Amino acid sequence: MRNTDGLRVCSKLRSFEQTRHVPILVMVDDGNTKLLVRALEMGVNDYVVRPVDRMEFLARVKTQLKRKRYADRLWENFHLSMQLATTDAVTGLYNRHYLTSHMETRLEAAQNSDKPLSVMMMDIDHFKVVNDTYGHAAGDMVLKEFANRVGKNIRGVDLAARYGGEEFVVMMPETPTDWAFMIADRLRQEVSDNGFDIGLETGPIKISVSIGVSTSRADMTPAQLLEDADKALYEAKESGRNKVVISDVE
Ligand code: GH3
Ligand code: MG
Ligand code: MG
Repeated sequence: MRNTDGLRVCSKLRSFEQTRHVPILVMVDDGNTKLLVRALEMGVNDYVVRPVDRMEFLARVKTQLKRKRYADRLWENFHLSMQLATTDAVTGLYNRHYLTSHMETRLEAAQNSDKPLSVMMMDIDHFKVVNDTYGHAAGDMVLKEFANRVGKNIRGVDLAARYGGEEFVVMMPETPTDWAFMIADRLRQEVSDNGFDIGLETGPIKISVSIGVSTSRADMTPAQLLEDADKALYEAKESGRNKVVISDVE
């Protein structure tokens, strides 16, 4: 780097997200302590002094690469653990634990503003029949496809989770009841109108879903909000399935 300012290159590398963790080894002239100190302050990982000894240089490069690979592995493992802890393996949606822990914060935010939080709780109708007719593996594929359709029908700010076996919950911030109903009913209709093609010779499987909708009120807990949605879902089942029912708790 005789023609460029090495320190500037270091500073650039450290300032961009993509290169922030690239190991940097600087070469300094013997006695140029001022430059070395500035480089170290900038976060370079190691240095060699000119004239450079070939063996020492190679050893230091190797050490930095080893350290970087180790750090990358740790980071990947961390991400994988986070993913395993928060998502459902079959559908790729968030799991129940993740949903309930986030609902607390979301509900509080809703209660501190005049923007309600709505929840829809869904349960696939007669899902046992799907398993009994086509097998458990086919049932899993239907769950996966169902999760896809849920994902396509909600907004980025909404949070979809697999709540139980064939039960799903979507949490919708800043959503009044009538909007939540519209979103839920659109999804319900989409599911019942379009069969689930999971590659069976017998063709797509007909599925329907029942949905209960509840909306946040002052002083209620996440458990109560979910319980309201669950009761509405129960009514949707009782009144014939393939329906959306709004919670009437006041
Ligand atoms: P309803 O309309 O009343 O909801 O009827 P249902 O048959 O869907 O309800 P029920 O709760 O009796 O059955 C749910 C079934 O879902 C039973 C269970 O075998 C199946 N199930 C739960 N989890 C999974 C899963 O991960 N994979 C598969 N393939 N099936 C599952
Ligand atoms: Mg069920
Ligand atoms: Mg069911």
